[in-house]
Amino acid sequence: MAAAQRILIENCAIATVDTQDTEYASGYLVVADNRIESLGAGRAPEGLENVVRRIDGTGHLVTPGLINTHHHFYQWITRGLATDHNLFNWLVALYPTWARIDEPMVRAAAQGSLAMMARGGVTTAMDHHYVFPRGSGDLSGAIIGAARDMGVRFTLARGSMDRSEKDGGLPPDFAVETLEGALTATEETVRQHHDASFDAMTQVAVAPCSPFSVSTELLRQGAELARGLGVRLHTHGSETVEEEKFCHELFGMGPTDYFESTGWLGEDVWMAHCVHMNDSDIDAFARTKTGVAHCPSSNARLAAGIARVPDMLAAGVPVGLGVDGTASNESGELHTELRNALLINRLGAHREAALNARQALRLGTYGGAQVLGRAREIGSLEPGKLADLVLWRLDTLAHASIADPVTALVFGAAAPVTASFVNGRQIVENGRLLTADEDAIARTTREEAQRLARVAGQG
Ligand SMILES: [Zn+2]
Repeated sequence: MAAAQRILIENCAIATVDTQDTEYASGYLVVADNRIESLGAGRAPEGLENVVRRIDGTGHLVTPGLINTHHHFYQWITRGLATDHNLFNWLVALYPTWARIDEPMVRAAAQGSLAMMARGGVTTAMDHHYVFPRGSGDLSGAIIGAARDMGVRFTLARGSMDRSEKDGGLPPDFAVETLEGALTATEETVRQHHDASFDAMTQVAVAPCSPFSVSTELLRQGAELARGLGVRLHTHGSETVEEEKFCHELFGMGPTDYFESTGWLGEDVWMAHCVHMNDSDIDAFARTKTGVAHCPSSNARLAAGIARVPDMLAAGVPVGLGVDGTASNESGELHTELRNALLINRLGAHREAALNARQALRLGTYGGAQVLGRAREIGSLEPGKLADLVLWRLDTLAHASIADPVTALVFGAAAPVTASFVNGRQIVENGRLLTADEDAIARTTREEAQRLARVAGQG
């Protein structure tokens, strides 16, 4: 075997986000191939061999790469629509357009979503994709290919919907799959693309869309399928008061009890939003170690409410951050969600004690790794873990007068990314992607958005 190639980063502040929240005001970090080999205070050890690159991190903070735990890439080409709606009205307004997506549209939208996140420090992305119009091509393959080409670590949550209007659900009849069709296609996607290895770049989860768009049978059999295949489970849960009312009317219980009755609480499950949770719901999540993808901007955009993140963390619920689809969070960035999570939670019951800067950074890194089931591999900077990390520039006008780097990163303006590494490979330099042409993606996404608007207008 060839000797490990080393990259040495020095003279930077480091927030490791390990269990002790270890930080170094000035330290070093050594990457060997795709792993973190060592890190610490002061200068790097003398005599390291095969150092192929030295990076002077003066003026920078190094953190684990950000991990996004909830998104819908296809929505990149339907941004800025239905801007003054709540969730159910927004969904009803957009489903007819979404039902007309095809493979080139989804590929372009995935590239747009991934590029926007990657240039802002995301090293692990996920896409919850649940719209599979008949004859629309290999959408899962297109999405996974886009992530692979960009060099971003990735989880595809293969979604599905089978409860349409005729069964009391929200999506129109033409936008859904059959129960059997959804399960078969999901299993195929797992078998074809899921990699269970330590340094996997692609994983697949089983992800029926939400209680109001899937049948009880799809939830139940989806859970069995995922456990049989050894993959994770993802869905939307407890997002709005309307969803809560829907569950009480149709199932005679609230969303969390309904999920529990269908096998959907467990340490292999994470759910987006979880805004409307009472104490017993939070206890159930804590008891079962069910994870939460907190999406503060999307929840604000759709007036869904404020998730009880401080209570969840106090109870021991794993919590990560999510951009959510960009039709309900047009910015499409995750680093700004660190700040939004902190600020929005301070509007809730716990006021100024709700979250601090270090807790917000933890949500976007280690918390994300936990809910994606990858806390052994990523989410903190520790020897032996995968080399997914970001150098944030904090010595310019935007941040230079803030002494504490983590405070600068979370409370300040979105910090420029000088370099971002995934699996030991640099994918961003000075805020630009090295692995894709941003201008070409901007052009293609605009063209595909216009084509979708045209096609949907004719439908
Ligand atoms: Zn969502």
